[in-house]
Amino acid sequence: MAKQAMLKFVQIDRVMPEKRAADDRKDDFDEIYAEYASAKAEEQASRCSQCGVPYCQSHCPLHNNIPDWLRLTATGRLQEAYQTSQATNTFPEICGRICPQDRLCEGNCVIEQSGHGTVTIGSIEKYITDTAWDKGWVMPVSPPSERSESVGIIGGGPGGLAAADMLRRAGIQVTVYDRYDRAGGLLMYGIPGFKLEKDIVQRRNDLLADGGVEFVLNCDVDAAKFDEIRAKHDAVIIATGVYKSRDLSMPGSGLDGIEKAIDFLTASNRKSFGDVVEDFDNGRLNAKGKKVVVIGGGDTAMDCVRTSIRQGATSVKCLYRRDRANMPGSQRETQNAEEEGVIFEWLSAPKGFTGDDSVTGVMVQKMRLGQPDASGRQAPEVIEGADYVEEADLVIKALGFEPEDLPTLFGQPDLPVTRWGTVKAAFQTGATEMDGVYAIGDIVRGASLVVWAIRDGRDCANAIIDTFNSKAAIAAE
Ligand code: FAD
Ligand code: SF4
Ligand code: SF4
Repeated sequence: MAKQAMLKFVQIDRVMPEKRAADDRKDDFDEIYAEYASAKAEEQASRCSQCGVPYCQSHCPLHNNIPDWLRLTATGRLQEAYQTSQATNTFPEICGRICPQDRLCEGNCVIEQSGHGTVTIGSIEKYITDTAWDKGWVMPVSPPSERSESVGIIGGGPGGLAAADMLRRAGIQVTVYDRYDRAGGLLMYGIPGFKLEKDIVQRRNDLLADGGVEFVLNCDVDAAKFDEIRAKHDAVIIATGVYKSRDLSMPGSGLDGIEKAIDFLTASNRKSFGDVVEDFDNGRLNAKGKKVVVIGGGDTAMDCVRTSIRQGATSVKCLYRRDRANMPGSQRETQNAEEEGVIFEWLSAPKGFTGDDSVTGVMVQKMRLGQPDASGRQAPEVIEGADYVEEADLVIKALGFEPEDLPTLFGQPDLPVTRWGTVKAAFQTGATEMDGVYAIGDIVRGASLVVWAIRDGRDCANAIIDTFNSKAAIAAE
């Protein structure tokens, strides 16, 4: 009888790739998880029970063909696994690293629900495509024929780049405009290297350029530039993300030493390229030797606390107004932060800052969780008389992001936006009410996830290709 290749979740335990010890990893910005050895990847993939109705797949925003590429990996057919994986995901090795798998694919794996520990889907996805890069299987796009239509994409984050890739596959001419000097959006300048090393992002940018995508960098699109881009291309995709930091307005909030998370993280990522960053070099955005307090409980806050540790802060504390069970950030990242020496002050909220010119402390009020509010979450309530001052000489605000005012910035009062300022666009196509103008990613969803931006980019590109095909068919009649 043929040996059974799959369903080994009863005999084989769940094993993640090796994680570097906290003492070893907290002084550098290298990724903390190692790669699986090939035998280990095959073994872990073989734990999958090949569900007839795979919940992992239906909870992956890209509907990746997970059971198929797990089976191909388990049976040593890695090149086919790569082909299957890249057919639905533009950046599988990036999603494998930074998707919150516990909330998406892995969190819905049925063998976890039967108590055996989820299949390590993300780590295997990363392994498949990293191996494909090593073996030279990842090739630039080479469309069967070139087309005359062109698309201008404003914003070179994961959404814009996923759209660029799909459009080039159809032979459409693509130009990506970005205000930064490197493409990649938050993959490049937001997410720190210990979660996603920057050469992983840059090799994708290079691959797209080799496949014919034109990049216009250092190009901050304003009203005049928007008109120029719209006139030049047959369609325009707005993929600008959300960058306006939510702020605090309370006594002392204007003191020096109180900084925005995005400024802090961007400076740190730029330094990892060896760039000259004045506000890092003069100490303003550098945690070295400082008592750091980060305010917030999301993934951005986790990235700030762990970056502060690596920069050599003397202490790093994270204030969050709810408790651990109710924080929005990933539990895995919180645990990583604790291992690295971050102290979490749960049920703690700022009410002001101490200091004359520069901050010296955060006035903290203690909270308890009260009755659930309209959203069903327990609302934090102040505990009277329990206030204290948390010493700090660098405070980082990681309170979330909002969209910039695009109708004003782009001089397009007709660009429809929601009451939150996100662009109104049709589900599954990204079409706005402006002719030939599409919008995708965070600027439509609000601050979201890389995998959703990729999904939007791919869907939007397909919609544009369909529109171009229909127009070409009508013209040919
Ligand atoms: P972005 O990645 O924001 O890219 C937008 C691009 O548009 C940028 O390059 C910007 O320079 C450019 N741009 C903006 N305005 C203009 C203009 N006027 N002219 C020209 N160019 C412009 N998601 C995860 O899935 N996993 C994580 O671990 C994770 N960690 C995160 C950590 C941090 C610190 C942050 C801030 C976010 C994190 N996210 C994470 C969220 C994720 O990064 C975003 O959801 C995703 O990058 C959105 O993609 P996007 O293409 O819509 O926009
Ligand atoms: Fe899971 Fe993200 Fe990969 Fe989908 S893209 S399989 S959600 S890691
Ligand atoms: Fe395999 Fe889990 Fe997906 Fe089922 S849910 S197909 S066991 S990875």
